[in-house]
Amino acid sequence: MIRTHIEPCRLNRTEADALNRASGERYTQVAVFHWRTYRHTGHWLSQDGAEKWNDRVNAGQPVLLHTHSIDAAQQGFYKACKTARRYRNVGLDTRYPYKRQKHRTTIWKQTGIRREGDTLVLARAQGLPPIRITLPEHLRNVLAVREVRLIYDRSKRRYFWHIVVETGKQPKSAPGTNVVAVDLGEVHPAALSDGRHTVIITCRELRSQRQYTAKRLAELRQQQSAYKRGSRRWKRLQKRINRFLYQQAKRTRDMEHKVSREVINTAAAMGAGVTAIGDVRDAADKVKLGKKSNQKIANWSHGKLRQSITYKAEAEGIQTELVSERFTSQTCPQCGSRRKPRGRGYTCGQCGFSGHRDGLGAVNILSVQQHGTPGRICPTGSTTYRIPHQVRVLRSPLNTGGQLPEAAVL
Ligand SMILES: [Zn+2]
Repeated sequence: MIRTHIEPCRLNRTEADALNRASGERYTQVAVFHWRTYRHTGHWLSQDGAEKWNDRVNAGQPVLLHTHSIDAAQQGFYKACKTARRYRNVGLDTRYPYKRQKHRTTIWKQTGIRREGDTLVLARAQGLPPIRITLPEHLRNVLAVREVRLIYDRSKRRYFWHIVVETGKQPKSAPGTNVVAVDLGEVHPAALSDGRHTVIITCRELRSQRQYTAKRLAELRQQQSAYKRGSRRWKRLQKRINRFLYQQAKRTRDMEHKVSREVINTAAAMGAGVTAIGDVRDAADKVKLGKKSNQKIANWSHGKLRQSITYKAEAEGIQTELVSERFTSQTCPQCGSRRKPRGRGYTCGQCGFSGHRDGLGAVNILSVQQHGTPGRICPTGSTTYRIPHQVRVLRSPLNTGGQLPEAAVL
């Protein structure tokens, strides 16, 4: 399995800055040249052509980076173009990359990485001494190091190494053969159902986090509006806003990881072999798409939470399947009639069935997976609530405004 580990970076600041500035410079050169050519001639440069041109322009200049790290920086632009094109092809209004990058993550590919015992040796340009990193203990018996990235963490204002390794471990065998449906929601991040029992994963922190971000952002913007756009004070506030948003995004991501861990643990406890995840095709509803584009959308539009569930499921040997969410929140599991639910509960006007709205979504997703339509499976078991493991520990200090434990500040 491929895994990425984040390790503190002891490289001195000037050196690290210089590396990432060099990467940014190469990226920017390619981007600027690409758009300039396009403006003047209407010709869309090929990746190969742009890279060759860029190498020629820089010939004879002093270099800092390993040849393949330079390649990685150049390729960055066309990779971003490709992503933008994919989004545009499915009808989204995505801009092609156009910004200059003063700093950019430096990437060492496998060819630039050597291992000497417990030390990783990262090559720089010819003639320059390589960078040495002592491998932390937990990474010493990995099969191979695939890639190393030098990443600047904007919230901590420090550099980190992201080390991509092949662990050599095989995925586990599935904990069972059951199908467990997962409904991702706005209020409760996830609800699970195996057809009998329902488990609802709650994480109030995730919501309050979102609300707090919006509120604080509005405050900062209000403060900023008192100054002239582009002035020194305005810029200082802009910096603060950027850093704040970055921090919040990191916290949210951390919580989503904890939620997805809980989802997988719960699914495993239900003896899952397959998880069926509800697929809200919002983007697909707006534009008419072919079958292929629909599949593309299914691969990315539902956010990080689904991605991290899929990824963790894989390691546990559980397969994931996407199932259409159409009418799953409206159909009665007992009689199959449809009505829009109000509030958190669902009560059927035809047969009187009542249950939790999110749990209903999950059981109907299961029904779609098994029978092709919602409303065929009626839950008979209990409904329980679970709070993601690590979030539980943090709950009281977060709510009382007390001191945050170290682990909470991620
Ligand atoms: Zn009913």
